[in-house]
Amino acid sequence: MNCTHAQERLTELLDPRNATTTTDEVRAHLANCPECQRDFSALHRTLSTLDTMPVENPTPRLRSNFYAMLEEENTPPPAPHW
Ligand SMILES: [Zn+2]
Repeated sequence: MNCTHAQERLTELLDPRNATTTTDEVRAHLANCPECQRDFSALHRTLSTLDTMPVENPTPRLRSNFYAMLEEENTPPPAPHW
């Protein structure tokens, strides 16, 4: 992945629901590219300012929510409805 491709998909990192495929390769590129990291944090700042709820670090939070959700799925409810 080159910078152009990575930068086109930076928004997918900020909102993985928009991701058409995995964001792993964008993330991998970011990890090794200071230039894209700068762009990403600029974009992040812009979106955070626009957003009423400041988002510090959206992806890890989404991921932990996802795992929390999985945990709930696997835990039988304390009071079954049947
Ligand atoms: Zn780059």
